[in-house]
Amino acid sequence: MRANWVLTVLILVGLVAGVVVGHLLHDPAFDLSMGDESHAHATTVVLLAFLGNTVFLGLLKMLIIPLITTSVIVGVTSVGDFRRLGKIGVATLVYYVATMLIATVIGLVLVTQIRPGDKITGEQRNQAQQTFDTSEWIQESVQQGPKGLLGGVQHIVDQIIPDNIVGAAAEGKALPVIFFSILFGIVLTTIGEPGRRIAELVEGVFAAIMTLVHGIIWLTPVGVFGLMAWTVARIGLGVFADAIGTYMVTVLAGLAIHGMIVLPLICWLFARCNPFRYLHQLRQVMMTALGTDSSSATLPVTMECVTEIAGVSKRSAGFVLPLGATINMDGTALYEAVAVVFFAQAYGIELTLATLALVAITATFAAIGAAGIPSAGLVTMVIVVEAVNGTLAALPGSPAIPMAAIGLIVGVDRLLDMFRTVVNVWGDAVGAKLIDRIDG
Ligand code: ASP
Repeated sequence: MRANWVLTVLILVGLVAGVVVGHLLHDPAFDLSMGDESHAHATTVVLLAFLGNTVFLGLLKMLIIPLITTSVIVGVTSVGDFRRLGKIGVATLVYYVATMLIATVIGLVLVTQIRPGDKITGEQRNQAQQTFDTSEWIQESVQQGPKGLLGGVQHIVDQIIPDNIVGAAAEGKALPVIFFSILFGIVLTTIGEPGRRIAELVEGVFAAIMTLVHGIIWLTPVGVFGLMAWTVARIGLGVFADAIGTYMVTVLAGLAIHGMIVLPLICWLFARCNPFRYLHQLRQVMMTALGTDSSSATLPVTMECVTEIAGVSKRSAGFVLPLGATINMDGTALYEAVAVVFFAQAYGIELTLATLALVAITATFAAIGAAGIPSAGLVTMVIVVEAVNGTLAALPGSPAIPMAAIGLIVGVDRLLDMFRTVVNVWGDAVGAKLIDRIDG
Protein backbone atom coordinates (compact mmCIF):
# COMPACT_ATOMS: atom_id res chain seq x y z
CA MET A 1 0.00 0.00 0.00
CA ARG A 2 2.82 2.38 0.93
CA ALA A 3 4.68 1.59 -2.32
CA ASN A 4 1.50 2.40 -4.15
CA TRP A 5 1.34 5.84 -2.58
CA VAL A 6 4.99 6.53 -3.28
CA LEU A 7 4.43 5.67 -6.92
CA THR A 8 1.32 7.88 -7.12
CA VAL A 9 3.18 10.85 -5.70
CA LEU A 10 6.13 10.26 -8.03
CA ILE A 11 3.86 10.11 -11.09
CA LEU A 12 2.15 13.33 -10.03
CA VAL A 13 5.52 15.02 -9.58
CA GLY A 14 6.54 13.74 -13.03
CA LEU A 15 3.41 15.20 -14.62
CA VAL A 16 3.73 18.61 -12.96
CA ALA A 17 7.48 18.83 -13.56
CA GLY A 18 6.85 17.86 -17.18
CA VAL A 19 4.43 20.75 -17.67
CA VAL A 20 6.83 23.23 -16.03
CA VAL A 21 9.92 22.06 -17.95
CA GLY A 22 7.94 21.88 -21.19
CA HIS A 23 6.67 25.41 -20.69
CA LEU A 24 10.20 26.70 -20.02
CA LEU A 25 11.45 24.97 -23.15
CA HIS A 26 8.65 26.23 -25.35
CA ASP A 27 9.66 28.96 -27.75
CA PRO A 28 6.78 30.31 -29.85
CA ALA A 29 9.23 31.48 -32.52
CA PHE A 30 9.77 27.84 -33.45
CA ASP A 31 7.01 25.46 -34.35
CA LEU A 32 8.41 22.16 -33.21
CA SER A 33 5.07 20.45 -33.80
CA MET A 34 5.59 21.02 -37.51
CA GLY A 35 8.93 19.26 -37.43
CA ASP A 36 11.07 22.40 -37.13
CA GLU A 37 13.80 21.04 -34.94
CA SER A 38 16.50 23.46 -35.96
CA HIS A 39 16.69 25.51 -32.81
CA ALA A 40 18.71 25.17 -29.64
CA HIS A 41 16.04 23.54 -27.46
CA ALA A 42 15.47 20.87 -30.04
CA THR A 43 18.15 18.56 -28.60
CA THR A 44 16.55 18.65 -25.17
CA VAL A 45 13.14 18.06 -26.72
CA VAL A 46 14.49 15.10 -28.69
CA LEU A 47 15.98 13.74 -25.46
CA LEU A 48 12.63 14.06 -23.70
CA ALA A 49 10.95 12.26 -26.59
CA PHE A 50 13.52 9.50 -26.28
CA LEU A 51 12.82 9.13 -22.57
CA GLY A 52 9.05 9.19 -22.92
CA ASN A 53 8.40 7.67 -26.32
CA THR A 54 11.24 5.30 -26.96
CA VAL A 55 11.96 3.98 -23.48
CA PHE A 56 8.74 4.21 -21.49
CA LEU A 57 6.13 3.82 -24.22
CA GLY A 58 8.34 1.27 -25.95
CA LEU A 59 8.38 -0.95 -22.87
CA LEU A 60 4.63 -0.68 -22.40
CA LYS A 61 3.92 -1.34 -26.06
CA MET A 62 6.22 -4.37 -25.93
CA LEU A 63 3.74 -5.99 -23.54
CA ILE A 64 0.49 -5.10 -25.30
CA ILE A 65 0.12 -8.00 -27.75
CA PRO A 66 1.10 -10.78 -25.29
CA LEU A 67 -1.02 -9.13 -22.62
CA ILE A 68 -4.08 -8.85 -24.87
CA THR A 69 -3.73 -12.41 -26.13
CA THR A 70 -3.33 -14.02 -22.73
CA SER A 71 -5.82 -11.85 -20.83
CA VAL A 72 -8.58 -12.38 -23.39
CA ILE A 73 -7.98 -16.14 -23.50
CA VAL A 74 -7.93 -16.31 -19.68
CA GLY A 75 -11.11 -14.19 -19.58
CA VAL A 76 -12.96 -16.36 -22.10
CA THR A 77 -11.86 -19.75 -20.72
CA SER A 78 -12.76 -18.76 -17.18
CA VAL A 79 -16.26 -17.71 -18.25
CA GLY A 80 -16.65 -21.22 -19.57
CA ASP A 81 -20.01 -21.72 -21.22
CA PHE A 82 -21.30 -20.08 -24.37
CA ARG A 83 -24.55 -18.69 -23.01
CA ARG A 84 -22.80 -16.83 -20.24
CA LEU A 85 -20.15 -15.60 -22.66
CA GLY A 86 -22.84 -14.36 -25.02
CA LYS A 87 -24.60 -12.50 -22.20
CA ILE A 88 -21.36 -10.83 -21.12
CA GLY A 89 -20.44 -10.02 -24.74
CA VAL A 90 -23.79 -8.39 -25.48
CA ALA A 91 -23.80 -6.44 -22.19
CA THR A 92 -20.25 -5.21 -22.90
CA LEU A 93 -21.07 -4.03 -26.42
CA VAL A 94 -24.31 -2.35 -25.30
CA TYR A 95 -22.38 -0.53 -22.58
CA TYR A 96 -19.67 0.60 -25.02
CA VAL A 97 -22.09 1.96 -27.64
CA ALA A 98 -24.53 3.52 -25.16
CA THR A 99 -21.82 5.45 -23.29
CA MET A 100 -20.21 6.62 -26.54
CA LEU A 101 -23.55 7.90 -27.83
CA ILE A 102 -24.21 9.70 -24.52
CA ALA A 103 -20.75 11.30 -24.80
CA THR A 104 -21.41 12.57 -28.33
CA VAL A 105 -24.77 14.05 -27.27
CA ILE A 106 -23.06 15.93 -24.40
CA GLY A 107 -20.47 17.23 -26.87
CA LEU A 108 -23.12 18.29 -29.38
CA VAL A 109 -25.20 20.15 -26.79
CA LEU A 110 -22.12 22.06 -25.58
CA VAL A 111 -20.70 22.92 -29.01
CA THR A 112 -24.06 24.12 -30.36
CA GLN A 113 -24.54 26.31 -27.29
CA ILE A 114 -21.01 27.70 -26.89
CA ARG A 115 -20.44 27.98 -30.68
CA PRO A 116 -16.62 28.26 -30.55
CA GLY A 117 -16.36 28.14 -34.36
CA ASP A 118 -18.11 31.49 -34.82
CA LYS A 119 -14.98 33.31 -33.67
CA ILE A 120 -12.65 31.79 -36.27
CA THR A 121 -11.17 34.48 -38.50
CA GLY A 122 -10.32 34.40 -42.22
CA GLU A 123 -6.64 34.41 -41.30
CA GLN A 124 -7.07 31.31 -39.14
CA ARG A 125 -8.86 29.58 -42.01
CA ASN A 126 -5.94 30.42 -44.32
CA GLN A 127 -3.52 29.09 -41.74
CA ALA A 128 -5.55 25.90 -41.46
CA GLN A 129 -5.35 25.49 -45.23
CA GLN A 130 -1.58 25.90 -45.06
CA THR A 131 -1.22 23.34 -42.27
CA PHE A 132 -3.43 20.99 -44.26
CA ASP A 133 -1.47 21.44 -47.50
CA THR A 134 1.90 20.91 -45.86
CA SER A 135 1.02 17.99 -43.62
CA GLU A 136 1.73 14.73 -45.38
CA TRP A 137 -0.04 12.47 -42.92
CA ILE A 138 -3.28 14.50 -43.00
CA GLN A 139 -3.27 14.33 -46.79
CA GLU A 140 -2.65 10.63 -46.63
CA SER A 141 -5.47 9.94 -44.18
CA VAL A 142 -7.89 12.04 -46.25
CA GLN A 143 -6.99 10.19 -49.44
CA GLN A 144 -6.67 6.68 -48.11
CA GLY A 145 -8.82 6.74 -44.97
CA PRO A 146 -12.38 5.42 -44.68
CA LYS A 147 -15.14 7.80 -45.73
CA GLY A 148 -18.68 8.35 -44.50
CA LEU A 149 -20.88 6.14 -42.31
CA LEU A 150 -20.57 3.07 -44.54
CA GLY A 151 -16.82 3.59 -44.80
CA GLY A 152 -16.69 3.78 -41.00
CA VAL A 153 -18.48 0.44 -40.58
CA GLN A 154 -16.35 -1.18 -43.29
CA HIS A 155 -13.20 0.19 -41.65
CA ILE A 156 -14.14 -1.55 -38.38
CA VAL A 157 -14.96 -4.90 -40.04
CA ASP A 158 -11.77 -4.71 -42.12
CA GLN A 159 -9.79 -4.34 -38.94
CA ILE A 160 -11.38 -7.27 -37.12
CA ILE A 161 -10.69 -10.24 -39.41
CA PRO A 162 -7.00 -10.62 -40.24
CA ASP A 163 -5.56 -12.32 -43.32
CA ASN A 164 -2.71 -13.46 -41.18
CA ILE A 165 -2.93 -13.46 -37.39
CA VAL A 166 0.83 -13.55 -36.88
CA GLY A 167 1.27 -10.63 -39.28
CA ALA A 168 -1.46 -8.66 -37.50
CA ALA A 169 0.18 -9.33 -34.13
CA ALA A 170 3.58 -8.35 -35.52
CA GLU A 171 2.12 -5.05 -36.66
CA GLY A 172 0.66 -4.50 -33.19
CA LYS A 173 -2.96 -4.56 -34.40
CA ALA A 174 -5.13 -5.21 -31.38
CA LEU A 175 -8.58 -5.94 -32.83
CA PRO A 176 -7.65 -8.99 -34.93
CA VAL A 177 -5.64 -10.37 -32.02
CA ILE A 178 -8.66 -9.95 -29.71
CA PHE A 179 -10.96 -11.56 -32.27
CA PHE A 180 -8.63 -14.53 -32.69
CA SER A 181 -8.11 -14.88 -28.93
CA ILE A 182 -11.87 -14.93 -28.26
CA LEU A 183 -12.35 -17.71 -30.84
CA PHE A 184 -9.30 -19.58 -29.56
CA GLY A 185 -10.50 -19.29 -25.95
CA ILE A 186 -13.97 -20.56 -26.85
CA VAL A 187 -12.50 -23.57 -28.64
CA LEU A 188 -10.24 -24.38 -25.68
CA THR A 189 -13.31 -24.79 -23.49
CA THR A 190 -14.77 -27.36 -25.87
CA ILE A 191 -11.90 -29.82 -26.37
CA GLY A 192 -11.63 -31.22 -22.86
CA GLU A 193 -8.31 -32.09 -21.20
CA PRO A 194 -5.89 -30.75 -23.89
CA GLY A 195 -7.81 -27.45 -23.84
CA ARG A 196 -7.56 -27.24 -20.05
CA ARG A 197 -3.81 -27.79 -20.21
CA ILE A 198 -3.33 -25.01 -22.76
CA ALA A 199 -5.59 -22.71 -20.74
CA GLU A 200 -3.39 -23.34 -17.70
CA LEU A 201 -0.28 -22.58 -19.73
CA VAL A 202 -1.80 -19.32 -21.00
CA GLU A 203 -2.71 -18.41 -17.41
CA GLY A 204 0.93 -18.88 -16.46
CA VAL A 205 2.09 -16.63 -19.30
CA PHE A 206 -0.49 -14.03 -18.27
CA ALA A 207 0.83 -14.09 -14.68
CA ALA A 208 4.39 -13.65 -15.96
CA ILE A 209 3.43 -10.68 -18.17
CA MET A 210 1.66 -9.06 -15.23
CA THR A 211 4.82 -9.48 -13.15
CA LEU A 212 6.71 -7.58 -15.86
CA VAL A 213 4.05 -4.88 -15.65
CA HIS A 214 4.68 -4.60 -11.88
CA GLY A 215 8.28 -3.67 -12.66
CA ILE A 216 7.76 -1.39 -15.66
CA ILE A 217 5.10 0.58 -13.80
CA TRP A 218 7.91 2.08 -11.69
CA LEU A 219 9.20 3.87 -14.78
CA THR A 220 5.92 5.74 -15.12
CA PRO A 221 7.06 8.91 -13.28
CA VAL A 222 10.06 9.37 -15.59
CA GLY A 223 8.06 8.34 -18.64
CA VAL A 224 5.19 10.75 -18.08
CA PHE A 225 7.67 13.50 -17.24
CA GLY A 226 9.37 13.05 -20.62
CA LEU A 227 6.12 12.79 -22.55
CA MET A 228 4.49 15.76 -20.83
CA ALA A 229 7.53 18.03 -21.19
CA TRP A 230 7.90 17.02 -24.84
CA THR A 231 4.25 17.78 -25.58
CA VAL A 232 4.13 21.14 -23.80
CA ALA A 233 7.49 22.21 -25.29
CA ARG A 234 6.08 21.67 -28.78
CA ILE A 235 2.68 23.23 -28.26
CA GLY A 236 3.03 25.70 -25.39
CA LEU A 237 0.27 26.64 -22.98
CA GLY A 238 -0.73 29.82 -24.81
CA VAL A 239 -3.07 27.91 -27.13
CA PHE A 240 -5.86 28.27 -24.57
CA ALA A 241 -6.16 31.98 -25.38
CA ASP A 242 -8.03 32.33 -28.72
CA ALA A 243 -11.05 30.81 -30.52
CA ILE A 244 -9.20 27.52 -30.66
CA GLY A 245 -9.00 27.96 -26.89
CA THR A 246 -12.81 28.17 -26.68
CA TYR A 247 -13.01 25.02 -28.77
CA MET A 248 -10.61 23.32 -26.36
CA VAL A 249 -12.59 24.48 -23.36
CA THR A 250 -15.77 23.09 -25.00
CA VAL A 251 -14.14 19.68 -25.48
CA LEU A 252 -12.69 19.72 -21.96
CA ALA A 253 -16.04 20.73 -20.41
CA GLY A 254 -17.75 17.86 -22.24
CA LEU A 255 -15.08 15.41 -21.11
CA ALA A 256 -15.44 16.68 -17.53
CA ILE A 257 -19.23 16.21 -17.58
CA HIS A 258 -18.94 12.74 -19.04
CA GLY A 259 -16.01 11.65 -16.87
CA MET A 260 -17.10 13.22 -13.60
CA ILE A 261 -20.90 12.94 -13.77
CA VAL A 262 -22.14 10.40 -16.34
CA LEU A 263 -19.60 7.60 -15.82
CA PRO A 264 -19.62 7.92 -12.00
CA LEU A 265 -23.44 7.75 -12.09
CA ILE A 266 -23.30 4.58 -14.19
CA CYS A 267 -20.72 3.19 -11.78
CA TRP A 268 -22.87 4.00 -8.78
CA LEU A 269 -26.32 3.09 -10.14
CA PHE A 270 -25.56 0.04 -12.27
CA ALA A 271 -22.26 -1.34 -10.99
CA ARG A 272 -23.18 -0.55 -7.34
CA CYS A 273 -19.73 0.75 -6.66
CA ASN A 274 -18.56 3.99 -5.06
CA PRO A 275 -17.15 5.81 -8.13
CA PHE A 276 -14.86 8.10 -6.17
CA ARG A 277 -13.28 5.25 -4.28
CA TYR A 278 -12.86 3.38 -7.57
CA LEU A 279 -11.33 6.40 -9.28
CA HIS A 280 -9.02 6.84 -6.32
CA GLN A 281 -7.92 3.20 -6.65
CA LEU A 282 -7.19 3.86 -10.33
CA ARG A 283 -5.31 7.13 -9.92
CA GLN A 284 -2.09 5.72 -11.41
CA VAL A 285 -4.04 4.54 -14.43
CA MET A 286 -5.48 8.00 -15.04
CA MET A 287 -2.10 9.68 -14.73
CA THR A 288 -0.54 7.15 -17.09
CA ALA A 289 -3.31 7.73 -19.64
CA LEU A 290 -2.76 11.48 -19.33
CA GLY A 291 0.97 11.12 -19.89
CA THR A 292 0.91 8.52 -22.67
CA ASP A 293 -2.11 9.64 -24.78
CA SER A 294 -2.71 6.00 -25.46
CA SER A 295 -5.38 3.62 -24.12
CA SER A 296 -3.40 0.66 -25.46
CA ALA A 297 -0.12 1.71 -23.85
CA THR A 298 -2.01 2.28 -20.58
CA LEU A 299 -3.65 -1.16 -20.78
CA PRO A 300 -0.99 -3.01 -18.75
CA VAL A 301 -1.36 -0.46 -15.93
CA THR A 302 -5.18 -0.53 -16.18
CA MET A 303 -5.18 -4.31 -15.99
CA GLU A 304 -2.90 -4.29 -12.97
CA CYS A 305 -4.81 -1.66 -10.96
CA VAL A 306 -8.33 -2.82 -11.87
CA THR A 307 -7.62 -6.42 -10.84
CA GLU A 308 -5.02 -6.05 -8.09
CA ILE A 309 -6.12 -2.86 -6.36
CA ALA A 310 -9.82 -2.52 -7.20
CA GLY A 311 -10.52 -6.27 -6.96
CA VAL A 312 -12.31 -6.75 -10.30
CA SER A 313 -12.14 -10.40 -11.39
CA LYS A 314 -9.54 -11.34 -14.00
CA ARG A 315 -12.38 -12.82 -15.98
CA SER A 316 -14.28 -9.53 -16.37
CA ALA A 317 -11.14 -7.43 -16.72
CA GLY A 318 -9.66 -9.84 -19.27
CA PHE A 319 -12.75 -9.56 -21.37
CA VAL A 320 -13.67 -5.88 -21.05
CA LEU A 321 -10.36 -4.02 -20.80
CA PRO A 322 -8.43 -5.17 -23.91
CA LEU A 323 -11.53 -4.82 -26.07
CA GLY A 324 -12.35 -1.48 -24.44
CA ALA A 325 -8.84 -0.12 -25.00
CA THR A 326 -9.35 -0.48 -28.75
CA ILE A 327 -13.05 0.11 -29.29
CA ASN A 328 -14.61 1.85 -26.28
CA MET A 329 -13.64 5.51 -26.61
CA ASP A 330 -16.15 7.87 -25.02
CA GLY A 331 -13.71 10.77 -24.96
CA THR A 332 -12.77 10.35 -28.61
CA ALA A 333 -16.43 10.11 -29.71
CA LEU A 334 -17.24 13.32 -27.83
CA TYR A 335 -14.23 15.11 -29.27
CA GLU A 336 -14.99 14.05 -32.86
CA ALA A 337 -18.57 15.31 -32.55
CA VAL A 338 -17.50 18.67 -31.10
CA ALA A 339 -14.72 19.13 -33.67
CA VAL A 340 -16.91 18.53 -36.72
CA VAL A 341 -19.60 20.96 -35.56
CA PHE A 342 -16.81 23.44 -34.74
CA PHE A 343 -15.54 23.11 -38.32
CA ALA A 344 -19.02 23.76 -39.71
CA GLN A 345 -19.36 26.87 -37.53
CA ALA A 346 -15.89 28.10 -38.55
CA TYR A 347 -16.91 27.97 -42.21
CA GLY A 348 -20.39 29.45 -41.65
CA ILE A 349 -22.31 26.20 -42.28
CA GLU A 350 -25.46 25.54 -40.24
CA LEU A 351 -26.18 21.90 -39.44
CA THR A 352 -29.75 20.63 -39.09
CA LEU A 353 -30.91 18.44 -36.22
CA ALA A 354 -30.91 15.41 -38.54
CA THR A 355 -27.29 16.11 -39.53
CA LEU A 356 -26.35 16.47 -35.87
CA ALA A 357 -27.88 13.04 -35.21
CA LEU A 358 -25.75 11.68 -38.05
CA VAL A 359 -22.71 13.32 -36.46
CA ALA A 360 -23.47 11.48 -33.18
CA ILE A 361 -23.68 8.12 -34.94
CA THR A 362 -20.67 8.53 -37.22
CA ALA A 363 -18.56 10.00 -34.41
CA THR A 364 -19.33 6.83 -32.44
CA PHE A 365 -18.22 4.63 -35.36
CA ALA A 366 -15.16 6.79 -35.94
CA ALA A 367 -14.21 6.39 -32.26
CA ILE A 368 -14.73 2.62 -32.39
CA GLY A 369 -12.51 2.50 -35.48
CA ALA A 370 -9.77 4.62 -33.88
CA ALA A 371 -6.83 2.68 -32.47
CA GLY A 372 -5.82 3.28 -28.86
CA ILE A 373 -2.78 5.32 -29.85
CA PRO A 374 -1.96 9.06 -29.83
CA SER A 375 -3.98 11.18 -32.29
CA ALA A 376 -5.87 8.22 -33.73
CA GLY A 377 -9.08 10.22 -33.31
CA LEU A 378 -7.74 12.97 -35.54
CA VAL A 379 -7.21 10.49 -38.35
CA THR A 380 -10.69 8.93 -38.14
CA MET A 381 -12.19 12.45 -38.08
CA VAL A 382 -12.29 12.21 -41.89
CA ILE A 383 -15.12 9.63 -41.52
CA VAL A 384 -17.34 12.15 -39.74
CA VAL A 385 -16.51 15.11 -42.02
CA GLU A 386 -17.26 13.01 -45.11
CA ALA A 387 -20.55 11.75 -43.66
CA VAL A 388 -21.67 15.30 -42.86
CA ASN A 389 -20.62 16.48 -46.31
CA GLY A 390 -22.68 13.65 -47.81
CA THR A 391 -25.84 15.06 -46.21
CA LEU A 392 -24.87 18.65 -47.02
CA ALA A 393 -24.49 17.69 -50.69
CA ALA A 394 -28.18 16.75 -50.72
CA LEU A 395 -29.17 20.29 -49.69
CA PRO A 396 -29.13 22.64 -52.68
CA GLY A 397 -26.60 25.46 -52.39
CA SER A 398 -25.05 24.25 -49.13
CA PRO A 399 -21.22 24.34 -49.11
CA ALA A 400 -19.24 21.35 -47.85
CA ILE A 401 -16.90 21.44 -44.85
CA PRO A 402 -13.40 21.72 -46.35
CA MET A 403 -11.08 18.94 -45.20
CA ALA A 404 -8.54 21.69 -44.56
CA ALA A 405 -10.60 22.53 -41.44
CA ILE A 406 -8.70 19.71 -39.73
CA GLY A 407 -5.69 22.05 -39.96
CA LEU A 408 -7.42 24.31 -37.39
CA ILE A 409 -7.04 21.80 -34.59
CA VAL A 410 -3.91 19.83 -35.45
CA GLY A 411 -1.68 22.04 -33.29
CA VAL A 412 -3.70 21.51 -30.12
CA ASP A 413 -4.68 17.93 -30.69
CA ARG A 414 -2.05 16.37 -28.50
CA LEU A 415 -3.14 18.35 -25.48
CA LEU A 416 -6.79 17.36 -25.93
CA ASP A 417 -5.74 13.81 -26.65
CA MET A 418 -4.39 13.49 -23.11
CA PHE A 419 -7.73 14.26 -21.56
CA ARG A 420 -9.88 12.27 -23.97
CA THR A 421 -7.59 9.28 -23.39
CA VAL A 422 -8.20 9.60 -19.63
CA VAL A 423 -11.97 9.51 -20.25
CA ASN A 424 -11.56 6.59 -22.68
CA VAL A 425 -9.67 4.57 -20.09
CA TRP A 426 -12.02 5.55 -17.26
CA GLY A 427 -14.92 4.35 -19.43
CA ASP A 428 -13.20 0.98 -19.87
CA ALA A 429 -12.63 0.66 -16.13
CA VAL A 430 -16.27 1.47 -15.30
CA GLY A 431 -17.28 -1.11 -17.92
CA ALA A 432 -15.10 -3.76 -16.23
CA LYS A 433 -16.74 -3.03 -12.87
CA LEU A 434 -20.21 -3.15 -14.41
CA ILE A 435 -19.62 -6.45 -16.20
CA ASP A 436 -18.11 -7.87 -13.01
CA ARG A 437 -21.38 -7.13 -11.27
CA ILE A 438 -23.59 -8.44 -14.10
CA ASP A 439 -21.48 -11.60 -14.22
CA GLY A 440 -21.82 -12.00 -10.46
N1 ASP B 1 -5.37 8.62 -27.91
C1 ASP B 1 -6.70 8.06 -27.79
C2 ASP B 1 -6.62 6.76 -27.04
O1 ASP B 1 -5.64 6.08 -27.10
C3 ASP B 1 -7.35 7.87 -29.12
C4 ASP B 1 -7.63 9.23 -29.75
O2 ASP B 1 -8.65 9.82 -29.43
O3 ASP B 1 -6.82 9.72 -30.53
O4 ASP B 1 -7.55 6.40 -26.37
